[in-house]
Amino acid sequence: MTWVASTKTWNDTSVDNCDVCGNLIINRYWSFTDDDGIVMRACRQDDEELAAWLKDQRKQPGYASFTSIRR
Ligand SMILES: [Zn+2]
Repeated sequence: MTWVASTKTWNDTSVDNCDVCGNLIINRYWSFTDDDGIVMRACRQDDEELAAWLKDQRKQPGYASFTSIRR
């Protein structure tokens, strides 16, 4: 749970997106480890709480049947 500065060079045109909401990550990102031990990179500190909420929502009834449509 800390801010990490980006170490990209000025001519690096690669794009990084927030692991939680998908926003573009510029200059620095919020790094945290979720319940499963996965290190996440987020665009803002509040996304840590959002990630936990989203994870909880995925456990709700109905979500599994919706995702089972994907192949
Ligand atoms: Zn984000």
